[in-house]
Amino acid sequence: KKIVIIGGVAGGATAATRLRRLNEKDDIILFEKGEYISFANCGLPYHVGGTIKNREDLLLQTVDGMSEQYGLDIRNFSEVTAINPDKKSVSVKNHQTNETYEETFDQLIISTGAKAIVPPIDGLDEADNVFSLRNIPDMDNIKKYIADKQVKEAAIIGGGFIGLEMMENLVELGIHVHLVEMSDQVMPNIDFELAQILHAQIDLHGVDLTLSDGLKAFQQQGKKLLLNSGKTISADMTILSIGVAPESTLAKEAGIELGLRGSIKVNDKLETSIPDIYAIGDAIEVTDFVNGQPTLIPLAWPANRQGRLVADIINGIDAVYQGTQGTSAAKIFELTAASTGNSEKTLKRLGIPYHSIHIHPNSHAGYYPGASPIALKLLFGTDGKILGAQGVGTEGVDKRIDVISTAMKFGAAAPDLAAVELAYAPPYSSAKDPVNMLGYTAD
Ligand code: FAD
Repeated sequence: KKIVIIGGVAGGATAATRLRRLNEKDDIILFEKGEYISFANCGLPYHVGGTIKNREDLLLQTVDGMSEQYGLDIRNFSEVTAINPDKKSVSVKNHQTNETYEETFDQLIISTGAKAIVPPIDGLDEADNVFSLRNIPDMDNIKKYIADKQVKEAAIIGGGFIGLEMMENLVELGIHVHLVEMSDQVMPNIDFELAQILHAQIDLHGVDLTLSDGLKAFQQQGKKLLLNSGKTISADMTILSIGVAPESTLAKEAGIELGLRGSIKVNDKLETSIPDIYAIGDAIEVTDFVNGQPTLIPLAWPANRQGRLVADIINGIDAVYQGTQGTSAAKIFELTAASTGNSEKTLKRLGIPYHSIHIHPNSHAGYYPGASPIALKLLFGTDGKILGAQGVGTEGVDKRIDVISTAMKFGAAAPDLAAVELAYAPPYSSAKDPVNMLGYTAD
């Protein structure tokens, strides 16, 4: 078989290596339009801030290393410009040589990811100090601008997890940050009352947080930002992090059926509407594991999981993608905010009946130094089935959410959490873990 993959990072690189492990003979060609393959997108903000010191640490694989190790034909600087379903081929442009050519396939995997949303904003064209962060060149540009211009004041538009991570990392560099968020809270995956804890922490670190307001225009070559409310902000640079949109142009032009907000529609075998063409990662519409509705959840776990599964499916293994739960975590200064499943906002919007409980247990035994409270929220249906959970605190938040995520995957009801036997010693937990407490409270 000859298998072609478009996109060489999270989903694409995972699919390529799994394909090779499953079959030694197949021709596997991976096209990546940029220079780098298999880099750590999620680490980019932390190199800007200096926590990850070496840029090379973000480059998980080199083209030569990965080609040799797995016997892959990896072509970087190679943009797929069209998918030709009738001919079962892709058109490719090599950006180094300007050569264009066609490459045929037996099976095609699209893992083109997502692009940062940049809406038309007045004054954007005159500004050379506005950035978004998706890849290594974006990161290099941001770092260079900060160093060259000795940036002292920055604006971040959008309080999702990339915006918040960039906020923290710019603060680490001694930059005064203005964070502007259109909704009344940051971190849309958690509910309003838990987000308040994040707002207080953001405030504590001297960030100028503006909620319920949006960017209207750039003025003075991007050095001044005018918000919808009339408020103005002075900033040496701006990071736009208002969300991402599926990179689905190729699929659309090839006549592949699209789903929500221009995403690529796939079935639970990750097949698109055209035979032998599969799609994975940020570019696709997924089914929400909790409520069964189509949704977009652009995260690294789903991309990796789908990358592995698509290789299995192409090799005849009976596998299905079971939907995305949206389990995620983010560091906001000393705090961790994590969630899995649906938020109360989502359940309300969909009219799904639910119960919710809040508890504030210590992260570990109160008598052992350093314990701190975790704000934990559990959402469950009228039948008891867990629908979602979220937590904010300084320690042990991610592991509690991960345990609940695991329980949800296996269909647990809220009271079942009381019966989960969890690791305990005073530095780590209590003999009755916060997860057990949720189970007892729900019972
Ligand atoms: P990507 O990994 O983005 O790869 C797509 C690739 O396709 C790109 O390299 C692109 O150049 C290439 N491509 C596109 N079109 C073409 C074409 N026509 N021809 C050739 N190549 C093409 N997720 C988490 O779960 N946790 C995190 O902490 C986290 N942090 C993040 C931080 C940042 C700054 C960013 C940008 C993302 C973060 N993510 C995080 C999201 C995560 O990185 C993505 O969900 C994941 O990378 C998606 O994988 P993908 O394969 O769909 O797309």
